[in-house]
Amino acid sequence: MLKKEFKRKDVNRARNLIMGKTGASTSTQIGYNTKQEDYKEGDVWTEGRKTWTIKNGIKQTISKLDAIKKEIFMPLCCPKCNKVMKSQLDKPNYKIYKKCHNCVVEYEHKLKIKGTYNKHIKALKAKNNLEYLKEIESYLLDVANSSNSGYISEDGVIERWVGGINKKKMSKEIKQAAKQARKKIND
Ligand SMILES: [Zn+2]
Repeated sequence: MLKKEFKRKDVNRARNLIMGKTGASTSTQIGYNTKQEDYKEGDVWTEGRKTWTIKNGIKQTISKLDAIKKEIFMPLCCPKCNKVMKSQLDKPNYKIYKKCHNCVVEYEHKLKIKGTYNKHIKALKAKNNLEYLKEIESYLLDVANSSNSGYISEDGVIERWVGGINKKKMSKEIKQAAKQARKKIND
């Protein structure tokens, strides 16, 4: 009975990932405990000694190291104007434009005068979508090509893919779906 349950959930999870349904839930079996819980996008929970979340439909750990890494990757000063980036608006702007909020405002103002602002926003969105798509595609290919009998993640969580997946077929389907999505974004 448990086997059946896993099969259905695993297939659903894979399907949701391919379809980009980030609101879908996933389930986990913890160690020898057969207790099974469902989590949805954005949920945060503790399992073992790690904190987990589901982001973009993918179960992942939230480590303190990640937060530290992000801090390191944002320099203290704006590379363009050399002013210290301390405003709350600097962080999201730096992530996308690699400059401070003021520099972005100035840059966008110039684009508006030139009349190329909308084009610029459109290109930016497309770029973000393509990056996201690339991440999803490589994750799915990873999953599709891992063992059919299940694998143990870094935290000892057993990820089961009961019933067996046709790796070749699934890889092909993932690549095709990604290709179509890419084409849609580029158009
Ligand atoms: Zn600046």
